Amino acid sequence: MTIAAPPLADPRALAPARKVLAEVFGYREFRPGQPEVIASVLARRDTLAVMPTGGGKSFCFQVPALLASDTLTVVVSPLLALMKDQVDALRQSGVAAAAVNSTMSREDQAAVMEQAVSGELRLLYVAPERFGDGGFMAALRRANVGLLAIDEAHCISQWGHDFRPSYRDLGSVRPRLGNPPIVALTATADPLVREDIVERLQLHAPVVHVAGFDRPNLRFDVIRTKSIKEKQELIAAKLKTLGEESAIVYCGTRKKVEELTDYLQRQRIKCARYHAGMPDDDRRRIQDAFARDSLRIIVATNAFGMGIDKPDVRMVLHHDLPDSLESYYQEAGRGGRDGEPADCVLYFSQRDRQLREFFIDLAHPEPHMVVDVYKRLVEFQGKRTHIRELMTEEDQPGINAAVQTLVDCGLAGRQGQMAWATRPNGEDEIDTAGLEAHRDHAVRKLDSMQHYAESMTCLRARILDYFGETGHGASCGSCGPCIAPPARIIGALTEADDRLFHALRAVRRRFADEANVPPFTIFSDATLHEMARRTPRNRVEMLSVSGVGQVKFERYGEAFLAVTRAAAPAGGAPAGQIAPGPRRDVPLRSREGKALNASLRRTWELFREGHDIPAIAAQRGLSTSTITQHVVDLLLAKEIDDVSRWVDEMTMARIRRAAGEGPIGPLGPLKEQLGESVSYDQLHLARAWINTRERGQAS
Ligand code: ADP
Ligand code: ZN
Repeated sequence: MTIAAPPLADPRALAPARKVLAEVFGYREFRPGQPEVIASVLARRDTLAVMPTGGGKSFCFQVPALLASDTLTVVVSPLLALMKDQVDALRQSGVAAAAVNSTMSREDQAAVMEQAVSGELRLLYVAPERFGDGGFMAALRRANVGLLAIDEAHCISQWGHDFRPSYRDLGSVRPRLGNPPIVALTATADPLVREDIVERLQLHAPVVHVAGFDRPNLRFDVIRTKSIKEKQELIAAKLKTLGEESAIVYCGTRKKVEELTDYLQRQRIKCARYHAGMPDDDRRRIQDAFARDSLRIIVATNAFGMGIDKPDVRMVLHHDLPDSLESYYQEAGRGGRDGEPADCVLYFSQRDRQLREFFIDLAHPEPHMVVDVYKRLVEFQGKRTHIRELMTEEDQPGINAAVQTLVDCGLAGRQGQMAWATRPNGEDEIDTAGLEAHRDHAVRKLDSMQHYAESMTCLRARILDYFGETGHGASCGSCGPCIAPPARIIGALTEADDRLFHALRAVRRRFADEANVPPFTIFSDATLHEMARRTPRNRVEMLSVSGVGQVKFERYGEAFLAVTRAAAPAGGAPAGQIAPGPRRDVPLRSREGKALNASLRRTWELFREGHDIPAIAAQRGLSTSTITQHVVDLLLAKEIDDVSRWVDEMTMARIRRAAGEGPIGPLGPLKEQLGESVSYDQLHLARAWINTRERGQAS
């Protein structure tokens, strides 16, 4: 593998990237690794970024995507839920992003592709299967693709723990898109997997960046137990300390998920189960409820995984031993993505290793067993034989994998549970060395996991050593072995801050429910904590809170300010805070100088408190069309600066197209043209917006 040193991150070259980070996303500092990866992407180099889960991989392609205003960034992502969350989050920040997937109607797909081709979109999210769709590829070829970002890139490797067949053909996609540079991103540190990624994606002299793997806000612990019962009791006790926040409990099998969920529910702990044996609909519902905070605790197999980028998970507990430290760190890393503390606890008993060994036998049969199975098939002289009859002992794990290996070597055929030899004398073609290597690899990974579970010294240091990170201390001072006996670290918030934090969460919740998006896409917990601590009183102070970008301020800033202002201490700001700006009282006149009548003003106040049209209508006992008219007036008076919460980007684009050029007149013809999918209220709002902001006429 050719590895180029990352280009030195020239601070000047990164100035525009910092500007985007601050203005669009509201963050002041890059996280470790982001500057190097972004610099490499901006230099149009092929790049492989290895960063821990929660390390901030998304900005590595999102920031460059926003800097390239004339090209499209295509993002390949393995799961719909993951794409949806990222697209929601980007749109909340005012970024033109969309996803196309097979669950959308043909028209909706076409509308998105039209935006992609016209240059309106900055980021387009797709699942790898899309590239096999002729219509999609034809449309995409007309778009100006400037960057191909491949998220969760380890899915391309069979050495990885998440191999997905749909990723296999990604290597051939780039030439069909006009050869844009590729940035591949993964949290997997395994060198074999990295090499595989570079090879299969055919990266040209890639810059490989491995970011710091330390996640200082995660607190690691291992609790040794003697029985399943003890594990269950300890996990229940731990979950009872959770309060209103979110947790994931991982189990090694579906059966254990079922058992633990039942136990916890008997203990009156509200939780839901999640595993691959459940219907898709149920799984989607649970993921959604979790993202939206209406469900706090999920008990799951590792099937609950990649789609989860909820930043405010406060505990990740493991009921069973994972298969490798990679898997463990990836799963535990789903805690505390927002940078706030999270507890990662592994509950371990000596017998746990057996379960994993069984799984290794299942997936990686010993070479001699594959050879034996082949010999038996040959004895049957090509006759179809039930796999059961090939076993030498009862219930032989790995028999399926053994037959599959023979099929892959071209020595056997298979249909369901029936198999047959395709020819005799093929023994030498069985790749015994390869089988042995796969098996060894898996056993070595399990060993490293067990060493972690039995460690008497700093757990963080063990993880960092495993990932090849040097220069860290021998003791982190926060993990189990470092602070025995366990001391509970008190959160940084005072009680008053905590009350305020919950009030801010309630406002966030309301916006999220109205827009039907997960709360964290509005603001993260970390952002709300900072608001609670600093109680901003004006726009400038609010914009200086990490996570508050321009668009989000325009959308939500006032509603949150209404809460923080009320809680801000009277008089001067406490030491260390920004001096308060002049208190902005509700003006009697709009910025355009028009007097706002009392009714309009009341609507405006309620709007600023964060209520949306139906809520204001209900509260005031007026119809929604009256309140919509108020909002139209406020838009015209430039008191409201955004319509995207009522008219999404796609609808707006359709209205613009249907309206043709010039200021928009009567709405009847437009309504006729656009049909049921666009309401009159939306047309009213869009007309006010387009006529005053885009087509220079005050309607
Ligand atoms: P990954 O894909 O590496 O697991 P994400 O890209 O989902 O991680 O980022 C995890 C969280 O960290 C997100 O909530 C994101 O907004 C936040 N984040 C990323 N970069 C920064 C940064 N430079 N400053 C503050 N927060 C960041
Ligand atoms: Zn430690």
